[in-house]
Amino acid sequence: MGDLSPSLQEKLLALGRDFRHKLSSRIEGIVSIRAALRVGRADRARLSELRVEVHKLAGAGATFGFRSLSERSRRFETLLDGMISEDAPLSSELLDEVDRHVSELMALEQAREPENEMEIFTAKGGSAKWAPSKKTLLLFDHDVEVVKDLSRQLGYFGYTVQRLASLTELEEAAGEGAKHLALLDASVLEEDPKAQELLARLKAKMDDRLTLMFTSRTDDFETRLRVVRAGGDAYFLKPYDVGKLIDRMETLSVERESVPYHILIVDDDPEQVAYYALVLQQAGMITSVALDPKRVIAVLNEAKPELVLMDMYMPGCNGMELASIIRQHEAFVGIPIVFLSVETDLDRQLAAIQLGGDDFLTKPIKPEHLVLSITTRAARTRNIRYFLERDSLTGLLNHTNLKEQLAREVVRAARLGAPVSFAMIDVDHFKNVNDTYGHLTGDGVLRSLSRLLQERLRRTDIIGRYGGEEFGVILLNTKSDVAARIMDEIRDNFSRISQQADGEEFFVTFSCGVASFPEIKEAGALNAGADYALYEAKETGRNRVVITSEFPAT
Ligand code: GH3
Ligand code: MG
Ligand code: MG
Repeated sequence: MGDLSPSLQEKLLALGRDFRHKLSSRIEGIVSIRAALRVGRADRARLSELRVEVHKLAGAGATFGFRSLSERSRRFETLLDGMISEDAPLSSELLDEVDRHVSELMALEQAREPENEMEIFTAKGGSAKWAPSKKTLLLFDHDVEVVKDLSRQLGYFGYTVQRLASLTELEEAAGEGAKHLALLDASVLEEDPKAQELLARLKAKMDDRLTLMFTSRTDDFETRLRVVRAGGDAYFLKPYDVGKLIDRMETLSVERESVPYHILIVDDDPEQVAYYALVLQQAGMITSVALDPKRVIAVLNEAKPELVLMDMYMPGCNGMELASIIRQHEAFVGIPIVFLSVETDLDRQLAAIQLGGDDFLTKPIKPEHLVLSITTRAARTRNIRYFLERDSLTGLLNHTNLKEQLAREVVRAARLGAPVSFAMIDVDHFKNVNDTYGHLTGDGVLRSLSRLLQERLRRTDIIGRYGGEEFGVILLNTKSDVAARIMDEIRDNFSRISQQADGEEFFVTFSCGVASFPEIKEAGALNAGADYALYEAKETGRNRVVITSEFPAT
């Protein structure tokens, strides 16, 4: 099944090349329609003709990765829309504007290169750098020891601490760049009578671009009130619980970039596909395309879209049949399928829904209605999926899901000829942690480990909670020795994290086993191999990473 998708990709790329070849004649067409427009004449018919051509260019441009061309065309289209609805004699100013748009298109045609080859299969690249994203915390605290200690602790989570000598420095540092995190000792509000006003002003100016956190040794009403008046977003008591601090910083500050919805469009008509792709892309979604119903399962496996938007009538197989085929696959039982067709007969719409469709939209549909229906469905599915797939304590993938992902990634790696590693982590003597400090503190330790993994691994790596105090990590495009090195760095960092139980400090370690494809060829065996290596790590003293030395029969 997997080998079908490269041919699909090839087909789409060929469509793109085709589009590129014909681009100059399309633009010539636009130029010749424009040449027939005259000042002083209202020429609705020609303007409409021009608009159709420009609209097609916008749609096809978006589909085939000619982003600027598509955007320019859309702006051009908006201008033409206005002119058509006014239906007034054309002024020379308006025609000048039309000409400006035309020459912009011509210039883009000269450039010829799509700046963005079709986004279709590139959503999940594997070549991200290993360096975790560095985030900076601006810290204002007189206590040098606190600064040193916090720098070290936050360093494990990928944060850099920049010490501020004065509040003026905060003002300067926060003036540049996008978003800032600052942690200040609240005593400054008492010492410096101007501090409160300065901070409140800065906070008001920067709003959510500045996260202002305060820390204090005392928990009194006066200090808390001063913090509120200075625009503080959070208040922490010293000594720091780094786990809590990180948790809070993440929720307060991280631009949780909303991941765009990924929609698969199934339609045999490239022009229509282009149109719907454009509409959805303009609304911030990612689109994949299957022009041939036979390719749908391959694209579903490959691109992992969250919703299928499907034409009812295609050659060879209709939408209802295709929906049934999709539902035959266990992995896609839950994926929403939305039909889009001119079909208005209610009985047939209901039949389509009975056969596994979730909704039926009738063409023509206003773009905003299409976007709204799709967004609502995709959001609901994503929500349900999140809770089904995730572990409630850590927010990581649950056991079942991690295993499914491993199986999928191994198949994919085999096809691409890329390595993939699987690491299993088990916290050392965790029972002791619970027995000594209580279950809640134990939960905190698990969360700090989950946080560390999320901060230190790449976004493309897949992290799950295997159960209890066990975690699993799938490192895409990573050989065993590299995976072991990375996991060992994380192991070392974890062992240095100061865990807190009612102000008492303690440290926890973990052991880890690593197994990799292509040494091991199959997901189940990879799992067993990592488990075996983990066992070896435990046996040989814990707090270490072991690469599997045995490759169980596959
Ligand atoms: P080893 O180094 O051999 O792995 O020793 P261990 O004590 O970590 O291993 P063991 O399997 O004996 O104990 C695991 C403990 O993890 C027992 C269980 O109570 C605890 N545990 C499992 N899930 C959770 C959880 O969600 N929260 C907390 N706090 N503890 C958990
Ligand atoms: Mg265990
Ligand atoms: Mg354990």
